[in-house]
Amino acid sequence: MTLSTYPSTSSTGISEEETSCRLTVAGMDCADCAKTIEASLATMPGVHTARVNFGGGTANVSYDPAETDAAALTQRVQALGYSAIADTPPENTRRRWQFDVAGMDCGDCAKTIEMGLRRLPGVSDVQVSFGSGILTVTPAGEVLTEEAVVSAVEQAGYRAVTRSDMPSPAVEAAPTHAWWRQRRVIETTLAALFWVLGFGIEQAGAGRVFSAIPFLLAMVLAGYPVARAAWYAVKAHRADMNLLMTIAAVGAIAIGRWDEGSSVLILFATGLMLQTLTVERTRRAIQALVALTPAEALVLRSGAERRIPVAEVAIGETVYVLPSERIPVDGIVIEGQSAVDQSSITGESIPVEIEPDSAVFASSINGDGSLQVRSTKRAQDTTLANIVHLVEEAQSSKAPAQAFVDRFASIYTPIVIVAALLLTTAVPLVVGDFQGWLFKSLVLLVVACPCALVISTPVALVAAIGSASRRGVLFKGGAAIEALAAVRTVAFDKTGTLTLGRPGVSDITSTSTLGPDELLAKAAAVERHSTHPIALAVVAEAERRGLTLAEVRDAQGIPGRGAQAWVGTEQVLVGSRRLFGSIPAEVEQALLVGEQTGKTAVLVGTADGIAGVITVADPVRSQSVGAVRTLEDLSVRTVMLTGDNRFAAKRIGEQVGVSDVRAELLPEDKVTAIAELERKAPVAMIGDGVNDAPALATASVGIAMGVAGSDAAIEAADVALMGDELAQLPVAIRLARQTLTIIRQNIAASLVVKVIFLLLTFAGITNLWLAVLADTGMSLLVTFNSLRLLRGATLSTPPAQPHSGSSEGATTTQPAGAD
Ligand code: ADP
Ligand code: MG
Repeated sequence: MTLSTYPSTSSTGISEEETSCRLTVAGMDCADCAKTIEASLATMPGVHTARVNFGGGTANVSYDPAETDAAALTQRVQALGYSAIADTPPENTRRRWQFDVAGMDCGDCAKTIEMGLRRLPGVSDVQVSFGSGILTVTPAGEVLTEEAVVSAVEQAGYRAVTRSDMPSPAVEAAPTHAWWRQRRVIETTLAALFWVLGFGIEQAGAGRVFSAIPFLLAMVLAGYPVARAAWYAVKAHRADMNLLMTIAAVGAIAIGRWDEGSSVLILFATGLMLQTLTVERTRRAIQALVALTPAEALVLRSGAERRIPVAEVAIGETVYVLPSERIPVDGIVIEGQSAVDQSSITGESIPVEIEPDSAVFASSINGDGSLQVRSTKRAQDTTLANIVHLVEEAQSSKAPAQAFVDRFASIYTPIVIVAALLLTTAVPLVVGDFQGWLFKSLVLLVVACPCALVISTPVALVAAIGSASRRGVLFKGGAAIEALAAVRTVAFDKTGTLTLGRPGVSDITSTSTLGPDELLAKAAAVERHSTHPIALAVVAEAERRGLTLAEVRDAQGIPGRGAQAWVGTEQVLVGSRRLFGSIPAEVEQALLVGEQTGKTAVLVGTADGIAGVITVADPVRSQSVGAVRTLEDLSVRTVMLTGDNRFAAKRIGEQVGVSDVRAELLPEDKVTAIAELERKAPVAMIGDGVNDAPALATASVGIAMGVAGSDAAIEAADVALMGDELAQLPVAIRLARQTLTIIRQNIAASLVVKVIFLLLTFAGITNLWLAVLADTGMSLLVTFNSLRLLRGATLSTPPAQPHSGSSEGATTTQPAGAD
């Protein structure tokens, strides 16, 4: 995020300044520290909201610039014992303009636009993504205007439209002509008809003058945009494929081959047209997601129910959602029950049971119940908007494979052009037959076009990323897909990943004079200040039993071990064996009983001794077994990493079938374990994305699951599984591998065709229109091959695992060991 200042008008109509800034915070070793910093920042004068993200190591603070500043905020965090720096982005990254470019039909055009724009004054950086059709311009200083960019793109023969911050359904509704009514289609069809006419006249034996006219018309109709693009490329000092085609066509006419010269341009234009039609459809697929959000929301304003545009819904406002309506906002349910289809977010079409306090997302489809939802995000910040934004960003990114292709193309094309020049000049000087060699060199110019090669990677990536997003899998870029395809080991976090992460207390054994309720109350008093799943279970059980919890001081989480706090004059410890010194035999006995059935036993005690054992059970996810088995079928080794004790870990490991179990790991041991696995083969680590951040970052691919709604966790991961479904993991790996296979096929096929045509040209067997046909035909084949990745990417994915779909939440209190 950038350091941005925006005035906000409060509902009372009084305008007050609000600025936000982001700090990078280092040294937080637990989620609790994040809470501490948050609380401390919030007490500072002028601070409106402070959000500290433990996983990302960042703090987002919004404040009144009249009362405090980034330096004061930084100092406060430092005073708490952490290192902090304010993220001040360099001047030139602060502003960035994005445009949708229409009419780009080849990777080459993207390069031409890019190079042309770089020559505009006041441009700091330009990125054109052929895959997503998005142009990003970073201006330097104030010289450049958005209009200048738009008109520069127009001069090149393309159309650029400024992208709005909020992808709105209204933009989608803009009328686009049916494909057969588009101007290019009509022109090219006419050109083809003229060509047929010319060819007929020629065959009938009429004179050159009669056939030349229709051929010329055909050339102009099909070729003028090509020539214009070529001219722009020349101005940008590039020899792009438009230029090569134009020279080839003009050259053919120069040596009297009218039919061939015009057919080159017609075939080329037809290829580009088909290309545009297919690729733009792919690009629009993701934008279509946006259209899923309703434009209006039903709210209560001045005593009456009214429908207002979603953009006007305030955070905290109550929105009414009627049965079978799409939910218009992200929010928390305050009243009502329903089954909601969240497939637009998670890819899972089986409805989720929603009740008060459940989170709902804009674009989900409400079931039979009416809901009242308290809005928690602005319309442009919803989870869906975030997904769309990230997908577009990912589609614009380049994968390592593409770097190779780009490098190859940048060497290959000039070499072939030089060869063509030599063929028309040097060779005829020695062996004669100028016309014959000129013709061969024209064919070579066409063969020099690396078109199919250049689009071999981006189209596949765009299709893969788009298709994955519809299945609830968010790839953060082409590089993430490549890395995931190479993965040979998957490391699972145990709690919350292989298990549901919603443990329940199953046994309480006192080994002291305390009764079970007293023991539980004591533990809960300490755990109330922790966010660990075990802590939540202990507190929930105490609440269920209606126990009163004592006030505690200096509550502190001890990552990977437990928690501690002062109760009166006593320091109470709750956690694993590691927290305590020697453990008496009868306590060890109580521990082992639970652990050997896969439960986690937590010790409660003081410096004086152990007071008792609380056993919690975290049920294994119904999908874990299937997901692990599918991964083994994909020759992926599975490893479980956990901080839990070895007996419980071993039991759970056996239940889900992972091949390797590593237990009693502290958070830093998990990082070491990943690094060690990584030395053998690329590793993907999957976790809940919050307390596993360091391990996720260490693995080649960090996968966060069940993260719909948690923007920070999505941000930190390489791959985000929106749904809380382990079955999505093998789906993601399969898709990544399939994408890489398709990219390799595309690259290999494009290269082979080029080599064949190079040989044929020298052997003198081929001709111009065959060479063009091969080039554009190959581009289309590459595109269609890539589009195979979209297959099956419907919004409702059938569950991949036999057990999926059972309502897992209902089994939360069942002990894990029950089998
Ligand atoms: P995992 O690897 O399964 O996510 P953690 O690293 O979070 O586990 O914790 C490891 C072990 O430390 C737990 O199994 C538990 O015994 C103990 N522990 C950690 N935090 C707490 C807590 N707040 N209360 C009780 N025990 C805790
Ligand atoms: Mg964990």
